[in-house]
Amino acid sequence: MDTAPAGHSPVWHPFTQMAIFDADPALVVERAEGNRLIATDGRSYIDGVASLWCNVHGHGRPEIVRAIQEQAATLQHSTLLGVSHPRAIELAERLPSLLPPGLTRSFFSENGASAVEVALKMAVQFWANAGKPERRRIIALEHAYHGDTIGGVSLGGPGRFRDPYAPLLFEPLRFDSPYAFGMAPGTTRAEATQRSLDSLRSLLERHAHESAAVIIEPRVQGAGGMIVSGEGHLAGVRRLCDEFDVLLIADEVATGFGRTGEMFACDLEGVTPDIMALGKGITGGYLPLSATVATERVYANFYDPGNQRTFYHGHTYAGNPICAAAALANFDVFASEDVLGRARERAGQLESLLAERVADHPRVGEVRQQGLMVGIELVADRASRAPFPAAARMGAQVCMAARERDVLLRPLGDVVILMPPLSIEAGELAQICEAVAHGLDAIPDALRLG
Ligand code: PMP
Repeated sequence: MDTAPAGHSPVWHPFTQMAIFDADPALVVERAEGNRLIATDGRSYIDGVASLWCNVHGHGRPEIVRAIQEQAATLQHSTLLGVSHPRAIELAERLPSLLPPGLTRSFFSENGASAVEVALKMAVQFWANAGKPERRRIIALEHAYHGDTIGGVSLGGPGRFRDPYAPLLFEPLRFDSPYAFGMAPGTTRAEATQRSLDSLRSLLERHAHESAAVIIEPRVQGAGGMIVSGEGHLAGVRRLCDEFDVLLIADEVATGFGRTGEMFACDLEGVTPDIMALGKGITGGYLPLSATVATERVYANFYDPGNQRTFYHGHTYAGNPICAAAALANFDVFASEDVLGRARERAGQLESLLAERVADHPRVGEVRQQGLMVGIELVADRASRAPFPAAARMGAQVCMAARERDVLLRPLGDVVILMPPLSIEAGELAQICEAVAHGLDAIPDALRLG
């Protein structure tokens, strides 16, 4: 195979074609203040995707920075393998007061993918411990995304994030995504939601006896393109899991900590999963920490003085005290300010701005929004919903053009994502929407099919 001369970047960037990265203008962020990122050339950009969906209250919040500094001066790291430390205890004691009722036992890791791996291993061993080792399959949604480790990638897709690694992966059972826009034109969100629930029922009728758990991204399938399910989807999945006695894992890595307008997406429908995966915003988006939180029923099945049912999993930096201190300071901000009320107000403003400036643009097929999570699906032709050729990298082009208006965005294929920090100001939202409109207008005529 021919190889192009490799560029100069010593950093191999995640989810990045390095040949394109090297050809694009370089952007090196060296500082951040509030909702803005400041590059080495002094130019500042609105952080339109919250530094990959994790920043919650803006950058540089003094309370969180101080908590990190104070913890760093006291205890930088000590393992949780068989030993404890005060910040982990405090964090595990406080988490249940934020979570849907019944989630009480916290297992810590450092990133969302690990939180999901932990959930998968917990679910499968739960059944083995219960004397039903045949219950080992996992049921996942089409268009799912649960992280980049082997377990997470197995659940994901199908598609380009998964296919190259197929030889390494296990096969989940899959049910339909409530992706109305991807179905026959005219399909409503409610119909797509019902179809998804029907396909889960039919899967469970055939496979519940060999299934350990259903895993979902509640309400919003993030990396699948911000697919928003209809009201009742989550509660319906919970009911089916109860009916067929299969565990429910809610992956709230992206949706957690206020992003959907509620503290957790599960709160939108009053659902308690058996296991919940948390990450990203748990520290306010400052340091890597994640948690897999289980109910008493799940935990009790591992609790064994005879040492036969131990959970064999653990990462070196699991529950690191500095990261835990950042999380506790993040919870303090939620407790002392009306973060959710403000986020809901901003979501309403964003909805109006999108309706005015973006939704009716001829290159926009659909705008999907839940709280401060938005996906803008680009199409070459609105009537036929024909996509742009993949090689045109239209989503990336729109986001590159948005930089000219001082807004930093990152697309998922041809879905432009907006996911600002919850602390975003109304004026900044207007600037983001202007930047997107500018990017849409910049789509070259040669690529306009309609
Ligand atoms: N689950 C979901 C729903 C996610 O959106 C992500 C990351 N975008 C992950 C898991 C993986 O998290 P991390 O990147 O921290 O491993």
